[in-house]
Amino acid sequence: MLLKIAVLPGDGVGPEVTDEAIRVLENVARIFGHELSLQKKDVGGAALVSSNDPLPSDTLQACLSSGAVLLGAVGGPAFDNFPSSLRPERGLLRLRQELGVFANLRPAICFSSLEDSSPLRPEVVSGTNVLIVRELLGGLYFGQPRSIHGQAGKRSAVDTMTYGEPEIERIAHVAFGLARSRRRKVTSVDKANVLDCSRLWRDVVTRVSREYPDVDLSHMYVDSAAMALVSRPGDFDVILTENMFGDILSDQAGAVVGSLGMLGSASIGGSVGLYEPVHGSAPDIAGKGIANPLGAILSTAMLLRHSFNLEAEAASIESAVDKVLAAGHRTRDLVKSGQASLSTQEMGRKIADAVEQHAEVKS
Ligand code: NAD
Repeated sequence: MLLKIAVLPGDGVGPEVTDEAIRVLENVARIFGHELSLQKKDVGGAALVSSNDPLPSDTLQACLSSGAVLLGAVGGPAFDNFPSSLRPERGLLRLRQELGVFANLRPAICFSSLEDSSPLRPEVVSGTNVLIVRELLGGLYFGQPRSIHGQAGKRSAVDTMTYGEPEIERIAHVAFGLARSRRRKVTSVDKANVLDCSRLWRDVVTRVSREYPDVDLSHMYVDSAAMALVSRPGDFDVILTENMFGDILSDQAGAVVGSLGMLGSASIGGSVGLYEPVHGSAPDIAGKGIANPLGAILSTAMLLRHSFNLEAEAASIESAVDKVLAAGHRTRDLVKSGQASLSTQEMGRKIADAVEQHAEVKS
C-alpha cells in the first residue's frame, strides 16, 4: 500500500520526536511491504519564521492531498507576544478546522512496567486504560466573538463557548461506537450545574445513548472527574467531553500514567486524519535530546490503524513499546532523578529494533 503522509514537525521538541516516529514508521513500512511517501512541511512557529503564517497554504495543500498528517508540536516563548492571529497555536487550530477533524482520541494507558513512574501509588494506577474522546472543533477555542478590547488599564476580554446539537451528536456517536470495542462504559464529562452549553451537552448525549443500549452511560461534573481521574483512574473506560475540558483532563491523564510524553492522539472524522503527541513543544527540554518520543511513536500506530486500516502494523508498534518498556528502558521523564536514561534517539532506535524483532518472531 502507498502510505502518503504529510509530516509537520513544528517547534521545540516536535522535530526531535517526529524524527523518531518516522524512523519507526520506515521500519514498519519496509517490514510489511508498504511504500512510504513523506512530505515535510512547516507549521506553527517554524512556519511563522519561514513565511509569516502559522499555516502556509503549501502546508495545508500537502495535508489535504495526503492520506494522513503526522504533526510534532507547535509553540514556544519566542512567539508568546505575537498577536493571537499569528500565534503558532492558531496554525494548529486552523489545520484541525480545515481538515474537519472533530473527534480527538487520546488513549492513556498505564503500561504495567511503568506503574512505578506514576506519581500515584502503583495499586491506584494499575490497570488504567482510559480513552478520552474530546470534541475538537467547538467550544471556547473556536467560539465567536472573542477579543481583548478597551484602553490599557481598563481592558476586558471575551471568549465564547458555543455548542450546537449536531456537533454534540456526532462526537457522542464516536464515543459510543468506540466504547463498543472496549469495556462498554462512557462517562460524559460536563459542568451542567453551571453552564448552559453543558446542559445541552448532557441532554444530547443522553438522547444519543438510547441508540447504544449495550453501552453504560454516566455523567460527571468536570471538577469531580478531575478528582476521580487521580483517585481511581482504573474506573474509567471512555471519557466523552468538550474541547477545553478534554484538553485539560488529557494532560492530567498523561501525568497519571507516568508522563505526558507517553500519550499519542488521533484526530479523525474529517477528510484527512491528523496524528500528534498530546504534549506541546516543551521549550524547557527542547534541543537537549531528552524528550520522550513514545507519544509521537504511538501516534503513528494510531495513524496506521485509523487512516490506513493497518491493524497488524499498528499493533506491531504498540507491542514494541510495551516490550522496550518491560525491558526497563526509559527516557529521562520516566526515571527517578539520578537514574540512567536513554536519549530521544536511543529510545527511537530501541522501538524500531523491537518492531523488527516482532516481525522476525511472527514470520
Ligand atoms: P508542554 O506539553 O510542552 O510541556 C509540559 C511539561 O511536560 C514540560 O515540563 C515538558 O518538559 C514536559 N514534556 C512535554 N513533552 C514531553 C516529552 N515528549 N518528553 C518529556 N517531557 C515532556 O506544555 P507547555 O509547557 O504548557 O507548553 C509549551 C508550548 O507548547 C506552549 O507554546 C504551548 O502553547 C504549546 N503547546 C502546543 C501543543 C500542541 O502542539 N499540540 C499542545 C500543548 C501546548
